[in-house]
Parts: sequence; structure tokens; C-alpha cells
Amino acid sequence: MSHHLSEFIRSLYKTKDFIPLHAPTFGDQEKSNVLDTIETTFVSSVGKYVDEFEREIERFTESPKAVATVNGTAALHTALYMAGVKQGDLVITQALTFVATCNAIHHMGAAPVFVDASRETLGLCPVALESFLEYNAKLDGERCIHKESRQVIRAAVPMHTFGHAVHLDEIQRICKKWHITLVEDAAESLGSYYKGKHTGTIGEFAALSFNGNKIITTGGGGMVLCASDVDGRCTKHITTTAKVPHPYEFYHDEPGFNYRMPNLNAALGCAQMQRLPLFLEQKRQLANDYRAFFKGSNYEFVDEPNHSHSNFWLNAVLCEDKGARNALLEEQNSAGIMCRPIWQLMHKLPMFAECLRGDLEVSEDIEARLVNIPSSPICR
Ligand SMILES: *Cc1c(COP(=O)(O)O)cnc(C)c1O
Repeated sequence: MSHHLSEFIRSLYKTKDFIPLHAPTFGDQEKSNVLDTIETTFVSSVGKYVDEFEREIERFTESPKAVATVNGTAALHTALYMAGVKQGDLVITQALTFVATCNAIHHMGAAPVFVDASRETLGLCPVALESFLEYNAKLDGERCIHKESRQVIRAAVPMHTFGHAVHLDEIQRICKKWHITLVEDAAESLGSYYKGKHTGTIGEFAALSFNGNKIITTGGGGMVLCASDVDGRCTKHITTTAKVPHPYEFYHDEPGFNYRMPNLNAALGCAQMQRLPLFLEQKRQLANDYRAFFKGSNYEFVDEPNHSHSNFWLNAVLCEDKGARNALLEEQNSAGIMCRPIWQLMHKLPMFAECLRGDLEVSEDIEARLVNIPSSPICR
């Protein structure tokens, strides 16, 4: 079977060379935009592309306000700052995520709390979230308090794993009931929709990433999506050293971040945005091919949930057990086809080992059995 799989993947990508998990593709527009920043000298904090890229993302996602940052982790850090996360707070997220989600929480002086994933979405499970809160939390006025530690549970950060939207309606309802701010980690889900709304536009704030392996790239980059104009303006202010605009005076009114995306990176982003609809089409076609190939096999293709129109950023299969997973990883990688296990669960990393957590049975099961398979868009 896995021998057939490597042949199948090679037939898709039409190459005998190494096949990466996800590689970016660039065209003439990318080259001319980047060259333009060099020729005009506007490679850094001044230039037209940052604004243009932000407006493009707003148009595409229908977010009221998008603010570009140096990377997705910085966008998450900013989103949590804007959500009012304070030193000593708790922030609920998934154990099944990329480490950046938890790093950003840690950078705020807060601690992540790990709640189980949903089998259907691979993201934060609303049932597990609600039962964690009912068991462990109480409301004190408009604050959600963790009963045992008396810490404030300030925010929840669901992550749309591989571009599959979590159950946002349910999660949003629970967050409202418990006075917890909803911040979406939409780093992997540009082009993914939940019941017709772009992921990242349901929470109060969200973060996108344009790292080299994401669906579009700016080299390094990220974006904060804000649910209101006012928050958007504050977000821009805080990411740009909190400088009060003036033709020549330096005046800053709070300790700000230097998280602004350089014009050079935004120039690449503007060109990539033009190709995003094509990438999404190509990735859906690839997912269709994989779905058909794995039908009736020992590998379960990870498909989009009913409520989600996914970008299929990274395709994945679930193996029968950990042994089958290891065999698949070994066979494909030694055949020059990059396949990867999912991230180790966050509570197994030394810096997050002591964090509070609920039952993580589904996360453990997915961690043991999931393999990502090559997912670069294919030009046919
Ligand atoms: C890529 C990613 C980020 C952000 O990563 P950066 O490399 O900082 O842009 C955050 N969370 C998740 C889940 C990601 O996959």
C-alpha cells in the first residue's frame, strides 16, 4: 500500500526528485514587487505595500480591520495583548497545536490550559471545553475564575488545524457564557470558511501566518484580524512602537511592540494574494485526489468537517495505530517523499509540562496516528 502511495504521489507531482511537504511558488508579479521595493529604497517601515496587503486581506476575509506583523507568533502575541490577557492569567487552548500558540500565551505572562481536540475537526472540542469549565471554573461577576488556583481564565484560543475550521458557533456560545474572550489561531486557515464566514472573523481577534510553509508566504509575516475598527486602530498603534503620529516629533504613549511587517515582505504578500484563489483551487483538487486514493484503504483521509470549507493547507491521513504510522513515515521519507507526524502534544514539552489540562484522550489518539502528506499546490 505505502509503495503504491509513493508511486501515486510521484505521479501527482511528476518528479523523481525529493518531494517536500509544502513549498511556496512565485511568479513574475512577486519578482517585480520585491524589485520595486529595492529600486525605490522602501524596503522597511515606509512604503505602500503594507497598507495594500492589509486592505487585500480585509477584502478577502471580510474582516473589519487587519494589521500586518513580522510573523504569526507576533500576531498571536498582539492579539492576546489586545484581548486583555494579564500576567498570571490562564488561557485555554489545545494540546494538539504548533508550539507558537503556547509561546504567545507564555510571552503575555499567562499560562496555557490544555483542553481536548474534537475528532472531527482536530481542533478545540466544544464539549470538552464546556465540561472543563463546568467542572473547574466559576463566574465572579464578569470574570471567569479557575476555582482551585483562583486565576482568571481570560481567553480561549482554538486553532484551525491544517485549515479545518473548529466548531466556532458552539465555542463562541461557551466563551460568551463564561465571559472568556475568543481569539482564533487562524495561522493555518487563510481561505478556510466556517458556515460561509472566513475563519478568524468570528472571534474578537485572530492571527494569520505567512511563514514560508503556509498557503501564501511573505517570507516571514503575520496578520492580526480585529472585529472592530477601534480595536484595529489600537492594534496598529501597539504594533508600531505606540508612536503618536507627528511629522517629526517622537512621542510614544505606552510600551509598544516593534512588530510592523516590513514593506519588502508585504510586497511579496500582495503578489501572493493575487494567486491565492488559484492555490485554493489546486489544493482542493489535490485533496480530492488523495480522498479517492485512500478510499477503502487502511488509511483514513482527514476530510473537511461538514461546517467547514477548508483550504486543505496540509493533507493528512490517520493510520490504524502508532506502528503503522511509524512504518508509513519511514517508508515515505526514505523514498524521498516528505511525510511528517503531527506535533508532540504541548503538555509533553518541558516548559508546558506543569500546565493545567483536561482529559486529552482524543488528542493522544490523533498524535499517535496522524501523518501529513505532501500538499504543495500542483499546477496542472
Ligand atoms: C505557523 C503557525 C503559527 C505562526 O507561526 P510563525 O512562524 O510565527 O508565523 C502559529 N500557530 C500555528 C498553529 C501555526 O501553524
